[in-house]
Amino acid sequence: MEYRVVSIVRDHARDRGSAPAVSGDGRTVSYAELDERSSRVAQALKADGLGPGARVAYVGKNAPEFFDLLFGAAKIGAVTAPVNWRLTPAEIAAIVADAGAPVTVLDAEFADLADGLPGRVVVTGEEHETWLAAHPADDPGFVGEPDDVVVQLYTSGTTGVPKGVQLSNANFEVGERMARRWRLDGTAVSLVPMPLFHIGGTGWALSGMYAGCRQVLVRDIDPAALVDTFERERITNAFIVPAVLQFMCQVPGAAGRDYSALRAITYGASPITSEVLRRALDTFKAPLFQLYGMTETTGAIVQLEPEDHDPGGPRGHLMRSAGRPYDWVEVKIVEPGGDTERAPGEVGEVLTRSTQNTPGYWNRPEETARLLVGDGWLRTGDAGYVDGEGYLFLTDRIKDMIVTGAENVYPIEVEEVLAAHPAVADVAVIGVPDERWGETVKAVVVRAPGAELTEDEVLAHARGRLAGFKRPRSVDFVDALPRNPSGKILKKDLRAPYWEGLGRTIA
Ligand code: ATP
Ligand code: MG
Repeated sequence: MEYRVVSIVRDHARDRGSAPAVSGDGRTVSYAELDERSSRVAQALKADGLGPGARVAYVGKNAPEFFDLLFGAAKIGAVTAPVNWRLTPAEIAAIVADAGAPVTVLDAEFADLADGLPGRVVVTGEEHETWLAAHPADDPGFVGEPDDVVVQLYTSGTTGVPKGVQLSNANFEVGERMARRWRLDGTAVSLVPMPLFHIGGTGWALSGMYAGCRQVLVRDIDPAALVDTFERERITNAFIVPAVLQFMCQVPGAAGRDYSALRAITYGASPITSEVLRRALDTFKAPLFQLYGMTETTGAIVQLEPEDHDPGGPRGHLMRSAGRPYDWVEVKIVEPGGDTERAPGEVGEVLTRSTQNTPGYWNRPEETARLLVGDGWLRTGDAGYVDGEGYLFLTDRIKDMIVTGAENVYPIEVEEVLAAHPAVADVAVIGVPDERWGETVKAVVVRAPGAELTEDEVLAHARGRLAGFKRPRSVDFVDALPRNPSGKILKKDLRAPYWEGLGRTIA
């Protein structure tokens, strides 16, 4: 049968209702309870006049109420739009308005935002429970079509303003196959540290729910607390972004903890250095999966398998690859901005085609036209190449590429080299204006705790390891790099002060 996201909760409630579905904020909700709670939400939304295609917003940290809303909305054909709570109140209100949501479920921690939001606002906790209790637990029974949109996730805004990405039942259809690829099944205990407003939160959690396992929601990211959670909850699977993985490995004693329940750690969403990968292998001693994808592709489309994480082995170079496309996904490399296909090994823009491609951005026809370029292909905005065996190597975002003289420099390659220096804790490489070359390479470095490191030492380290045009010409030292909630370095923010007044779009 064609897949509907809402079937997850209906099917599990019928077949194994007492199994735990989601834990968070100190409580665990079973699939039967989730079914009941979401039916009450569905009735509440219906009573407010909402129906198929209506949007509802969720502004909050990872909490079980999110799933009451997601499945409740789906039971009347409405669409859930989770919003990044780290944005400013004005930005949050703008996204709720962009979605056109007449109802918002708002985390009690942010209750003071309520007055600034349009429509009905239900604050989690007591008010939310009262809202549920006031409506019957009868499932309205909406099924809908494969192409119906179920969630609207806003992009991270790494390169510009967040855009609402519509994702349909058909987009999530491969969730079950993905769950198997990630070793999730009904007995798994799956950690959800990525925010639910991100595909790495919602997509990952939905796959775990598809498999029928328990999701352990993380409200706030604290690396030491995460290490404790792995042990205490006997976590079997987790999706963790490279930045958090790196911080977890730095927690004193992290390598000596009990990870015996762990089946695999899945990571992705931003570039990772081989150094962090090596440390993660040493710390967790568990299989690693890398994922590459984007909100617009319902998450992962390319995966690197555990056997390809073998730093000392003959195929150790694959650690720099994002992996190979799933059987049901096509990837091709074309000349950036154009459509001439590149040969294996040649860098270009990554295009993809599969059932995972979004039907489009919400209310943004021009951006949608730039994204979906015909014949089912989607333009990722990422640069990379595919080797003779079909492995995808990402070289960077096209917008982050540095053009110095006639040469293209992909910052990731330079970051990889600098990160290997023992006194470097974190590093970002950006292009800064240069009269002669247009742009030159600058490294922004965070020193390891207690380490001494000078600009000359960084430049010397790059010498002999990188071609001349790729070597940084200057180094800034900072205490921390600006990152967004998915752990991505905000290069547009790092670049901004250098390009101010120079008339180049730095977004
Ligand atoms: P915006 O589109 O608003 O600028 P964003 O692109 O960061 O934000 P997401 O959809 O969350 O929003 O992220 C997708 C992007 O993340 C990809 O296009 C790619 O640049 C990056 N990415 C994802 N996985 C990987 C990976 N394994 N390695 C390197 N980069 C990755
Ligand atoms: Mg993007």
